[in-house]
Amino acid sequence: MATLPTPSTPTVSAIYTAYEAAADTGWREHLGASLIGTGCDRALWYSFRWVTRARHTGRLLRLFETGNLAEARFVADLRRIGVTVLDVDPASGRQWNLRDPGGHFGGSMDAVAIGLPEAPKAWHVCEFKTHSLKSFTKLQAEGVEKSKPLHWAQMQAYMHLAGIERGFYLAVCKDNDALYQERLHHDAEAGMRIVARAQRIVAAPRPLARISEDPAWFECRFCDHHAVCHGDAAIERHCRSCLHATPVADGAWHCARHQMPLARRDQIAGCAAHLYLPDLVPGEQVDAGEDWVSYRLPDGSTWRDGVAA
Ligand code: SF4
Ligand code: SF4
Repeated sequence: MATLPTPSTPTVSAIYTAYEAAADTGWREHLGASLIGTGCDRALWYSFRWVTRARHTGRLLRLFETGNLAEARFVADLRRIGVTVLDVDPASGRQWNLRDPGGHFGGSMDAVAIGLPEAPKAWHVCEFKTHSLKSFTKLQAEGVEKSKPLHWAQMQAYMHLAGIERGFYLAVCKDNDALYQERLHHDAEAGMRIVARAQRIVAAPRPLARISEDPAWFECRFCDHHAVCHGDAAIERHCRSCLHATPVADGAWHCARHQMPLARRDQIAGCAAHLYLPDLVPGEQVDAGEDWVSYRLPDGSTWRDGVAA
């Protein structure tokens, strides 16, 4: 029997393509609190150094937007019962932005709130999340810390950076609209540990230890950086992969080659004097000069980075 052709869905395809076209660079300016609960130091260092550009399908980008759109409804639900919710920073009129003292680690809180029925006098850092039924069921059974350690670490980081002692996690099940709530206490020791880890990752001039040397390890199989970390995938040329760039105070970057600060658009563009951080080249450094470094690659050939001989 002849195989039936796959049904054509040009409209849906066009919608997904539009999401992909509108997506940003996939590179985050700072080391994000939403990732800091990740088990692998190297994965976090790779993210901070823009080693792998996050490329998501249109369907997934739309799913992320679904999560963002849900935030306004969570805020409305809380206000409906009399809770005071500040979903923007009154000082700036914009999203709450938190940073560590060095300015390279942090994130954006969803809101802060006061007047919750169970603790009306305490300000809470609010985090709003959407879950699949499977994830929601696990969340109900185990709580945030055990079932969603990334969310727990994110909230501990926010409470720590904001100086607020309580957190309020509010989640919805996308399958049936059931809500889940949990109040979290600021764990000062965990907060300090999280910030110290972030600062160690930001300051590291070379990739940190892998969580596993086995490419088939659970975390590795789902890691965005697998092709670079356990393979020899090429890394894009930009300032974050260049040996001349250093993160400096106040969340800024500096180029030692041109003796200049690097704004985000400069970092994305890089320049002709770019030289890869040697740890990002899958070879052994054998020689170097002004604006060039040469490497012996695993196949025995030589590769020269930088200006031609
Ligand atoms: S592939 Fe594994 S070891 Fe490498 S960065 Fe990702 S999680 Fe870490
Ligand atoms: S040399 Fe060029 S690519 Fe390297 S950090 Fe400076 S401006 Fe960026």
